[in-house]
Amino acid sequence: MKILVLNAGSSSIKFQLFEMNENRSLATGIIEQIGEHDSSGKIEYDGNIIEKKEQIKNHNSGLMLMNMLLIESFTIKSLDELGAIGHRVVHGGEKFTKPAKIDEEVIKEIEQLIPLAPLHNPAHLDGIKVTMEQSPQVPQVAVFDTAFHATIPSYAYMYALPYEAYEKDRVRKYGFHGTSHFYVKKEAEKYLKVENINAITLHLGNGASMAAIKNGKCVDTTMGLTPLEGLIMGTRSGDIDPAILFYLARKNGLDIDNLDNMLNKQSGLKGICGSNDMREIEKMAKKGDKKAQLSLEMFAYRIKKYIGSYSAIVGKLDCIIFTGGIGENSIDTRVRCCADLENLGIELDLVKNNQKIKEILDISLKESKIKVLVIPTNEELEIAIQTNLLLETKIA
Ligand code: ADP
Repeated sequence: MKILVLNAGSSSIKFQLFEMNENRSLATGIIEQIGEHDSSGKIEYDGNIIEKKEQIKNHNSGLMLMNMLLIESFTIKSLDELGAIGHRVVHGGEKFTKPAKIDEEVIKEIEQLIPLAPLHNPAHLDGIKVTMEQSPQVPQVAVFDTAFHATIPSYAYMYALPYEAYEKDRVRKYGFHGTSHFYVKKEAEKYLKVENINAITLHLGNGASMAAIKNGKCVDTTMGLTPLEGLIMGTRSGDIDPAILFYLARKNGLDIDNLDNMLNKQSGLKGICGSNDMREIEKMAKKGDKKAQLSLEMFAYRIKKYIGSYSAIVGKLDCIIFTGGIGENSIDTRVRCCADLENLGIELDLVKNNQKIKEILDISLKESKIKVLVIPTNEELEIAIQTNLLLETKIA
């Protein structure tokens, strides 16, 4: 059976087609700059690429182009051939703790969550509504970034604000990147042959978050009501003293939008050294750029603080897992994050850490009590798997 996975953003649609009998990717593609002048679509399959530059006004024409590319690449003959479509949805609030088969009711619930994810959920809904119209016969499933974090206990997800902020305004920690944290923990369970693992997962990409996993369940995560909390990221500040906002607003006359933009888009690694690209920052640091060096130290320091606090929460750990563009590729970041953690039982093998990583790799010393694993993430495959599982159990 073939499953198409869609990640519809406000100006782009990423897609990937899977053959589920072998969990194999048949094609990946992207429709970019929707609504702009230089919009385009691209599909890659079997070492081939088809690219089309044309004006794409909205998600409807973007998805029509995607359909054309899929058919032109012969990866499917018609959309009727699809067994299902799996949609990535960023925010599932408290309602969606599992994937959901999409119907009118589910669409309404995702709409109600728009205030919690004003940039993401409307774009996902556009994608969902158009594909439902274009392929009404194909079952569609929503897989939520927040779902894996649904097991976090209330004492960890509550903020110490007036209780009505939770009751009335739904303010609590939700966490994100859940599909990735779940995928790598599942891969680690298979690799280490341990069921219901105790682990700390580090998803370090442009956005970055960590999860504390006890007996296979998520018990805490660094992102919060929004993806802004926690680690230092490409352009996001992560944790700060919230009073900084009042101070800067009063002192420099900034309004809410200025502050939102500053914390989400102008902070993090970029705010400190001018770049949010880890490869470039590492090059700058090697050439002696002091701000680049500082940003790398800050990035790893924040991660180490969370490794310490999460090992206190989880207790006896089986492993820590690096994933995401930085976690999978930055040898030096892994060294900085694991330095001087011998007392916690984490000992890196510097030779193994230096290898290029294509699949799961254990980069810890033999005597390390806690294994350090690098596991390439695959959120799209996980969405396809969860879509398939949900439909199978419904049919059974
Ligand atoms: P996103 O969150 O956008 O999916 P990715 O997971 O692709 O991001 O991660 C992007 C980050 O990974 C960038 O900071 C990039 O510089 C970094 N990265 C990718 N390859 C390497 C590498 N070989 N060495 C260091 N950093 C890398």
